[in-house]
Amino acid sequence: MFIPTVKEVPADAEIASHQLMIRAGLMRKLASGTYSYLPLGLRCLQKVMNIVREEMNRAGAQEIVVPIIQPVELWDKSGRSTDYGQTLFHLKDRHGRESVLVPTAEEVFTSLAANEIKSYKQMPVNLYQIQYKFRDEFRPRFGVLRSREFIMKDAYTFDTDTENLHKSYMNMHDAYCRIFKRCGLNYVIVEAESGEIGGSGSHQFTVPCESGEDFIVYTEDGRRAWNLEKVPADPPPKEKPKAEIPPMQDVHTPNIGSIEAICKFLKTKPQEMIKTLIYKTADETIAAVLRGDHELNHEKLTQLVSGKHIELADEATIEKVTGAKVGFAGPMGVADNVRSVFIDHAVAAMAAGVAGANKTDYHTKNVVPGRDFPLDGDNIKIVDLRYAQEGDSYEGKKLLFKKGIEVGQIFKLWSKYSEKLGAKFLDENGEEKPCLMGCYGIGINRIAAAAIETGHDDDGIIWPISIAPFEAIVTCVNQDDEVVAETAEKIYRQLTDKGIDTLLDDRPVHGGVKFKDADLIGIPVRVTVGQKSVAEGNIEIKLRAESKSSKVAVDKAADKVVEIVNSLKEQLNL
Ligand code: ATP
Ligand code: MG
Repeated sequence: MFIPTVKEVPADAEIASHQLMIRAGLMRKLASGTYSYLPLGLRCLQKVMNIVREEMNRAGAQEIVVPIIQPVELWDKSGRSTDYGQTLFHLKDRHGRESVLVPTAEEVFTSLAANEIKSYKQMPVNLYQIQYKFRDEFRPRFGVLRSREFIMKDAYTFDTDTENLHKSYMNMHDAYCRIFKRCGLNYVIVEAESGEIGGSGSHQFTVPCESGEDFIVYTEDGRRAWNLEKVPADPPPKEKPKAEIPPMQDVHTPNIGSIEAICKFLKTKPQEMIKTLIYKTADETIAAVLRGDHELNHEKLTQLVSGKHIELADEATIEKVTGAKVGFAGPMGVADNVRSVFIDHAVAAMAAGVAGANKTDYHTKNVVPGRDFPLDGDNIKIVDLRYAQEGDSYEGKKLLFKKGIEVGQIFKLWSKYSEKLGAKFLDENGEEKPCLMGCYGIGINRIAAAAIETGHDDDGIIWPISIAPFEAIVTCVNQDDEVVAETAEKIYRQLTDKGIDTLLDDRPVHGGVKFKDADLIGIPVRVTVGQKSVAEGNIEIKLRAESKSSKVAVDKAADKVVEIVNSLKEQLNL
């Protein structure tokens, strides 16, 4: 068996799963973000894929495979040849024809539907593949958590109307719950972006864990969870001023534009500042007003302008709108010079603050929201505009923050792709309509890494039984003792005959080395066959997740292991 374990922690491996996948001989790096899978690693991926396949089939999805190399014209049609940006791998063939390497396959599945689905009578359709994906990630890292080549299960549904789309979506949602449970992962279902037509348009399945790159924010009662872009925040309670606030007063703040610099200069705190940011869409300017210590949530602002592309305005526009150089914008009078003003509800709750004076090198003290700038009007709205942060609440419930690994995501795509790629059907009345689509992704390699990230100790991996490369390992402690070696091999054969995925460690090395390796590769059940216990007619059984071991008679060993493996499996069953 080719299991090249190593003692040293690889220099470029920052997190446990990456280190252990190399050290336990699961995989080897070829180049940045690409890995070769060795026998143990591949066995794990295959087990994950089997679970995914079984649950997809059970949910009525049908497996197909589409090409990895796809003509760029198809991607031009959807607009994603540019929208996907530099993450999309481009290549040219010998005839100069351009193709892309697939990062996700909406275009191909939609064009397949466009050609084959003609009538409502053929629907619903649910197709999936388990296939390589390629993304030229800006920063491949953390081993297979963020790689450039990975295996994804991607599914696509085609429905006739909103209600049926919702049914397909929930069907996949439920299949995902079964998949992650069977893989032994503790996951949280997180509300993600709301999609173009509103409603709950997307959910992420995220495994809470310190090394994750995503944030999960959930209410203290655990009833709701969101990703960081999506989480709503209550406004703070309205501040009551201790005394009447004096009128506004300008102060000279030469060349001091940043919040920190102003706070230092005026001896005030960021939460007593009001910041005004000028944004623009293709044809309008917008002002966003926030408390100094709050960060604008770009996604929330985007939703407020109906999903239009927005970016910070250039210097010239800011000067035109505010009459001052960048760094001195304030909310006073700004509504007259922009299309819309969005005021975060935390600003509306302030008693008074310090704001830019709309005059170069000046700030204004004692600015009272509602007194010195309006909180309502035709183009003024009080909204939730910021990223929630520690200490915030939603509907009175405290928000808790946790890092996590996104292992899967489901989306309602509505008719975004079907319109562009012509996936239309005739309904009962002979009317032509676009298919309503959903898409559903799962990262196969990421599941393996997330399982290790949440299941390991100082000695190595602790696999869930369902995706462990082997279910049991027979460790022969004294290979040179004939009776011991024969006993070990006999138990190995019995287990294999009983359908247990078993590994036999019959290497001519010291017992200590075998124990270390067994712990490192993390096989759930270990059968230890050694001189002393065999002389008594026993072997020892130990679970990787537990520290104690128990003695079992040699002739009962195989049955006992089967019983243990079954009970471990049972815990992950549905
Ligand atoms: P991320 O935000 O982590 O970049 P994503 O949201 O872009 O991921 P999706 O397009 O939703 O990813 O892809 C579906 C699934 O594919 C993800 O949930 C994840 O499990 C997996 N995946 C995506 N990118 C990678 C990658 N670079 N390496 C490994 N798995 C990935
Ligand atoms: Mg995603």
